[in-house]
Amino acid sequence: MVQNIILFGAPGAGKGTQAKRLEQVLGLPQLSTGDMLRAEVREKSALGMQVEAIMASGLLVSDDIVVRIIEERIKRNDCSKGFLLDGFPRTIAQGEALNAMLKAKGQTINFVIGILVPDEVIRQRVIHRRSCPSCNTVFHLTSMPPEIADHCDHCGHKGLVHRDDDTQAKVDTRLQKFHTETAPLQKLYASVMHTVDGTQAPDAVTAAILEVVSPNYTLN
Ligand code: AMP
Repeated sequence: MVQNIILFGAPGAGKGTQAKRLEQVLGLPQLSTGDMLRAEVREKSALGMQVEAIMASGLLVSDDIVVRIIEERIKRNDCSKGFLLDGFPRTIAQGEALNAMLKAKGQTINFVIGILVPDEVIRQRVIHRRSCPSCNTVFHLTSMPPEIADHCDHCGHKGLVHRDDDTQAKVDTRLQKFHTETAPLQKLYASVMHTVDGTQAPDAVTAAILEVVSPNYTLN
């Protein structure tokens, strides 16, 4: 059975953290447009050069670019049983393009999981967020610090980074974009939308998501 899942929420709501956990449990790949775009920027590809400034400013990259990236990505074999979308779609146009892509394959979006976190909590989280530039694992300096300071628990990389767009000024821009451009997608997905309280500890959020997408699964 194919399971196409969207993790939906503001920047810093925990979509990436949850996607990494669910990847293991559900055997579905995490498709993060943010991670894919950051990889292009690091590689200094033509696409990376094109999107670098807009990403650093906290604004959204054009629909055409991200739709093309996802269209190519979901053709890969590891998506044959479905995928976990993290950070896509972010506009109604992206949602409609995704629906059309899936319809052409006889598929649909099975679940949208809205991870709810108030803006004030998001601001605090994002400012203290540190990310591994190698495997994209995310840490929080106070609530989810790495075991060894400045080292990634997951891949061992030394040198966690504070993303250019994880600053006080940029987080306001990103939250505003979320409310104006992304939140309206909830209407498009009303029939498959479920929400979880994203202020809980990460394990509790994972359990709440699994209750929706895989009710027979028990976390140990
Ligand atoms: P994220 O890691 O998901 O917070 O994404 C970081 C940045 O990448 C965003 O602030 C945007 O500039 C860009 N980005 C990622 N995904 C999308 C998307 N679906 N649509 C437009 N821009 C995106």
